[in-house]
Amino acid sequence: MRLCDITLRDFRNYECQQIAFDPGVNLIVGDNAQGKTNLLEAICYLGSGKSFRAQKTGEMVRFGADFADIEGSVFSQERLQTLRWVLFSGSRPRQLWKNGVKKKTAADISGVMSTVLFCPEDLMVLKSGASARRRLGDHALCQLRPNYDAALTEYNRILEIKSKILKDHFENPAVLEILPEYNTRLCQVGALLISYRARFYEGLGKEAARYHQQFSGGAEEFVLDYKTVSTVADPFAPVDTLVAALQEHLESHYRAELETAQCLTGPHKDDFSVSLSGIDLKAYGSQGQTRTAAISLKLAQRELMKRESGEEPVLLLDDVLSELDPGRQDFVLNQIVSGQVFITCCEPGRFTKLGKTIEIEKGNVK
Ligand code: ATP
Ligand code: MG
Repeated sequence: MRLCDITLRDFRNYECQQIAFDPGVNLIVGDNAQGKTNLLEAICYLGSGKSFRAQKTGEMVRFGADFADIEGSVFSQERLQTLRWVLFSGSRPRQLWKNGVKKKTAADISGVMSTVLFCPEDLMVLKSGASARRRLGDHALCQLRPNYDAALTEYNRILEIKSKILKDHFENPAVLEILPEYNTRLCQVGALLISYRARFYEGLGKEAARYHQQFSGGAEEFVLDYKTVSTVADPFAPVDTLVAALQEHLESHYRAELETAQCLTGPHKDDFSVSLSGIDLKAYGSQGQTRTAAISLKLAQRELMKRESGEEPVLLLDDVLSELDPGRQDFVLNQIVSGQVFITCCEPGRFTKLGKTIEIEKGNVK
């Protein structure tokens, strides 16, 4: 799959801009704060309906404008297709079209254009907090499995209501009457999430181990370990078994949840760890090992998505190459011989000969 062109209206610092892209490497060059990451955000959003940086949809609408419009033509599934999103600055729900036909949710455009984003923070993802790792996994899984995306959305919605119940019960004990209903649903949907994650992380770990082995000259054995709620003995178990395990954990934390007014139990606390030849990376890994392992994970994610859909996802490298030493840069570049890639950087330096260069200045192509 490849993005042929994009048209942005009132998106971030872009007022009105149409940009055509190369089917191979697109080098997006410009000084700081000119709109390079904004362009990658638009590309990512076009395909997934998700932003990797905005907390609220309205943030993506240009200051002072009422709505933003992102439109692009994509060559995938053996034909030219169009995607279009309109995002509003207020509370009005966003709108979506595929090939000119209005659609309801992001799941309706699944598979048209998948993206894999790689940014400098990802290089340290194995050292940082669990939420960064969950985000990485969720972003990939949501694109791979629309049903996972729907389950995750529902889980988060129930979790929000439960948090409110836990906060309100001191003032208004009657709200506790509806808590069991939400707890039950949380366990049911939570079990689904665990089931999807177990399979995804198994595949991701195997693929990343292959990359890491090439990268480290076969010296290190990369093992990814998915960690979920402690009462889940086997995350591959049937969903009913997972539901029972989640309920057991929930019951043992019932009092603690009421006392702390926090949702202490469930897969919203999931994590994964990586060890290299048996040594835990988070605790003991060097900076170089951590970066190499993170690159292996990202390349693995791209490979999994390619295998699933039969098409190469669009790779977005935000400032990441310039963060790497030449050896690692070459490894990454050698792995992306095929497919479409967007690379942002301030100083093109040694990358200029790669493909099309697009210079951005204050939300305009120079
Ligand atoms: P760097 O090299 O520092 O990463 P960049 O080119 O990637 O820079 P972006 O993050 O794409 O920069 O763009 C940042 C600019 O976009 C900032 O100047 C910011 O004020 C502006 N911006 C962000 N959101 C909006 C918005 N909703 N409306 C108008 N401008 C915005
Ligand atoms: Mg940037």
